[in-house]
Amino acid sequence: MLLEIENLDVHYGRIQALHGISLSVGEGEIVALIGANGAGKSTTMRAISGLRRPSTGRITFGGEDITKMRPDRRVVAGICQAPEGRGIFSGMTVQENLFMGAYTRKRGAQLNADLDHVYMLFPRLKERRRQPGGTLSGGEQQMLAIGRALMSRPKLLLLDEPSMGLAPMLIAQIFQIILEIRDQGTTILLVEQNAQQALSRADRAYVMETGSITREGTGADLLVDPAVRDAYLGVA
Ligand code: ATP
Repeated sequence: MLLEIENLDVHYGRIQALHGISLSVGEGEIVALIGANGAGKSTTMRAISGLRRPSTGRITFGGEDITKMRPDRRVVAGICQAPEGRGIFSGMTVQENLFMGAYTRKRGAQLNADLDHVYMLFPRLKERRRQPGGTLSGGEQQMLAIGRALMSRPKLLLLDEPSMGLAPMLIAQIFQIILEIRDQGTTILLVEQNAQQALSRADRAYVMETGSITREGTGADLLVDPAVRDAYLGVA
């Protein structure tokens, strides 16, 4: 397993947001976390990227215990989170934003090749490369956030709500790109409100409820699970 989480508890002050979460992500997988608002999905992502320290439990990445590792060290180790649509530098151009994603790496031919690769995945970003990030549409900012994360060449890409606020056409396109990114060798853990899309694209998924994992399985199995259909897919 590339990422392994065992028995994680996370608190915000006196509020316990995660209760003994355990999950794993294998190399080359797309794993989805689904669940209602407040279930603890974003908190799980924060614990993995290092923005929130667990009170108990263990996180290992590539066999190394990273539970206490600083967030910036985790980026260097190969974990990169693309925040939901925001978190881009609005005063910098699209291209400058993309280079910011590669701040841990040396400039050079490889970096330019990666930039071309991001522009190939997102031709819209190439058209707008000289435009300030803040002037992009919501969907374009979402693409920029993903593109910027890719520039760090992550082994594990964390995506928090990649379909948030996107028109249906663009949602399908974003998921298509997520599959391409996986096929090119990046492992992906994503949080999604859009359970239908997430389960139909993910290799495996976990369902979270009030800070615990209540179900897990292949995306295909969970799609036909009556309890999941009832609660998250709007079909009884
Ligand atoms: P959503 O889909 O609405 O984004 P989520 O599944 O990502 O929800 P989290 O954001 O992880 O859920 O929140 C889990 C719980 O932790 C919620 O009850 C939330 O109110 C609480 N929580 C999150 N952040 C904080 C914080 N900074 N301080 C206090 N409580 C918090």
